[in-house]
Parts: sequence; C-alpha cells; structure tokens
Amino acid sequence: MIINCRSLFSTLIQVCLFLPCNAQSGNTILALHDVNIIDVLSGSVNKNQNVLITNSIITRVGNTTDLEIPAGYQQIECTGKYLMPGLADMHVHVFDSSELLMYLINGVTTVRNLHGIAMHLQWKKDIEEERLLGPHFYSSGPILEQAPLSRSTNTTLTSIDKIDSIVFNHKRLGYDFIKIYDNVSLPFYEQLILSARKYSIPVAGHIPTPVGIGNVIKINGQKSIEHLEELLPFFNDGRDTTNLIIYATELAQSNSWVTATAVVYESAFLQTVHDWSWFEQSAGFRFMSRETIRDWGWEQTFKKRNQNSVGIERYTRTLNFFTTQLLPAFKKAGVKLLIGTDAPVPMLVPGYSLINEMQLFKKAGFSNAEILKIATVNSAKFLNSNGGYIAEGMNADLVLLNQNPLEDLEAFRRIEGIIFKGSWYSSGFLASLLSSKKE
Ligand SMILES: [Zn+2]
Repeated sequence: MIINCRSLFSTLIQVCLFLPCNAQSGNTILALHDVNIIDVLSGSVNKNQNVLITNSIITRVGNTTDLEIPAGYQQIECTGKYLMPGLADMHVHVFDSSELLMYLINGVTTVRNLHGIAMHLQWKKDIEEERLLGPHFYSSGPILEQAPLSRSTNTTLTSIDKIDSIVFNHKRLGYDFIKIYDNVSLPFYEQLILSARKYSIPVAGHIPTPVGIGNVIKINGQKSIEHLEELLPFFNDGRDTTNLIIYATELAQSNSWVTATAVVYESAFLQTVHDWSWFEQSAGFRFMSRETIRDWGWEQTFKKRNQNSVGIERYTRTLNFFTTQLLPAFKKAGVKLLIGTDAPVPMLVPGYSLINEMQLFKKAGFSNAEILKIATVNSAKFLNSNGGYIAEGMNADLVLLNQNPLEDLEAFRRIEGIIFKGSWYSSGFLASLLSSKKE
C-alpha cells in the first residue's frame, strides 16, 4: 500500500476521529521509502535508504536498490527528506499534559522530568500503554532537600535515618531517579548516594551548596548535574576561571553528566531587550496554556527584568561565560553533556526551546554533528534506552525532516513529522491535535 504523507495524514485524522489514538500504534508495519539517513554516530548522511519498521522496532535498513519493500507495508514516500533519531529534552517540568504534544511536534520523542509527583507516574504509565500521546517520559520523584527549603514545593529531608526508606520508596513507586536540590548537607548527601546505589536508582540534580563540586566529583555517585549555573559559584560568577580546566578534566573523568540548560539565561537576557509582545510572536507560543502564561507572570517578570540593570549585566556576562568559556572547556575535556531546557520556565516554550539550546551549543563551538549526537546518542546512553541512532533492532522513534540538520539546525523548525513507537504522525496532524486541545 503506497500512502504519501498528505493522504496518510487524512487517514490518521479519520482513524483518530473514530477510534482512540492508540489505534494508530501497535501491530504497525511501516516503510520509509528513499530517505536520507543521518548517521548521528559519524555525523554523515546515508542517501537513498529504505527503512522497515515492525511495531515499534526498526527491522531492516538498506539501499533502495538492495532492500525491497514487501507488500502490505504502509509506505511513506521520503525522497529528498532526512531521517534521524528523535531528540531528547533532558530537563523539563511538565505540569500541563498538552505540552507533551509540543515536544513531539518538535521531534522530541523523549523527555526527562525533573520534579515528579504521583500524576507523572500515571502519565508515564498512560504513555507506555498508549492511552496518552506524549514522548517517552522519564521522571524523578519529588525534589529532596533539607530545611529551610529553597522552594516550598520541595520535600523536606528531616533526618538522615529516614533517607534510606525515602530512596527505597521512590524506587518502589516507579520514579526513574532521585532529584536533589541546593540545601543538602554532606552527611545527608553521602547517605542519599549510598541508598541510591543500594536500590540502583540514579541521583540527579543541583550541586548542593554545602557539598560543593569537589565533593560531588570525589563521591562520584551523582549521575547528572543540572544547569551550568550550578558551577558559577566555583568560578566567582565567571570572573575567575583559574580552576576551569581542572574541574572540566575531573568532571570528564567522573561518572557525572552535565545538563547545560544555558537557554534559561538566554531567555532571561531576551526578556531584558524585548517587550512581551515579542514573545507572543515566538514559535509555539500559540499552543501555550493560559494557566502557564499566567504563571509566567508576564508583566511582573518583564518589569523586574527590564528595570534591573544589575540583572541585565549578570545575564549577559553569565551567558557569555557559558558560551565562550565553560562549554568550550567541557567540549575540550570531554565532559559527558546532555541537552535540556528547563521548559517551561518563563518564556521557554516546550519543545521549541530545545532548538534554541542547540543553537547555544553551536555558538559555543560545537558542530551540528556533535550537537545532534549529544541530543540523541548521549541521552540514550544516559537513559540506557534502546535508541539514539538508526540501526536494525533499535526503537523506531524518529524525526523526518525537510532539510539536512547537519547543515542547519533550524531544520527542526520545519519537520515533516515523527515516527513514534513505529507509527507515523505528520506535524500537521500533531498541530491539529494541539489546536483542538486549546479550544
Ligand atoms: Zn528544572
């Protein structure tokens, strides 16, 4: 059966109107005909390939001349288009389920949620069992730290004796990792790492202030450090870079990965130079929920940022430190990096902001090939998932693009669609689902 993208789109609309959306997934046999595959491992393009997918797994990949598409496959004509593994946003906070589609429509087929509550465990299950359409969803448990809490929504670690059972409980409930925050003492931190090792659950989060980067590296049990700004205090806010190479080298040799989220500072900086109507024009803004926009506190946030010259100077300096010093030093030392956004912190639109984060890596001297590898291979390695590159036996979570992203990362702003768990979703179809959710 030959179906071009447009007719497949209308077929899917019909399917979705009359059947639950999970009717699209499971028992699918899909073929992509004559596609250019981005090999994210080598940063090269394999032209004119056919890809066969059964259920959610890539079963065959081969030249159009060598690999015939058997009868019975749903076939997508892909001549002139580019196929690569789905992207991962490794630092998000999803509290509005419509944002899940905003990730998919940008080719983000995996997210890592850094503040989990019971609702997220249910979403995770619903996504896995195809009652809810959203990217593969990994979530931490509730954020842990000692009193006084940095944020009222964090959970208090009251005594060292209780840590083991808290960690056990997070694992038992099904959270994927433990999230720690700023205020954790060294003895509490050591116990958290010990218990996490005991129950085989990774620890991710900030560098607790009383612990410091030196101890995080020495103890070597924190799987990811979130946000480059967590490193700022150790460089006197970017003014003193004496220890930059030492920390970069030690971090590269440790078990810790670093999720940059530099885009948070870019966004804060942009808020100092634009008024909020500028953000209203930004990509994907139309899909944001009213509640999130209200929570962003439009006018208050902008007034605060615009009138604070110290803030403006700080955002500019910090962003500059990230792109001209910190990220280049990490690249040189071989620090294991992840790409994440912290969306939806104010003015960071889920999914759309991942491209901005990738552009900041570019500004810091990474090639497009290196950036694509970080957003796919690195995240799959970090998550131990069966994906990250296109090969037989790998998960069929893919992005189909109209342009080569090795040449221009902006290609992600005009994707043709995604293959998620082996099923095809055109971006037009995903946009119609998002629009219908907003009405
Ligand atoms: Zn965060």
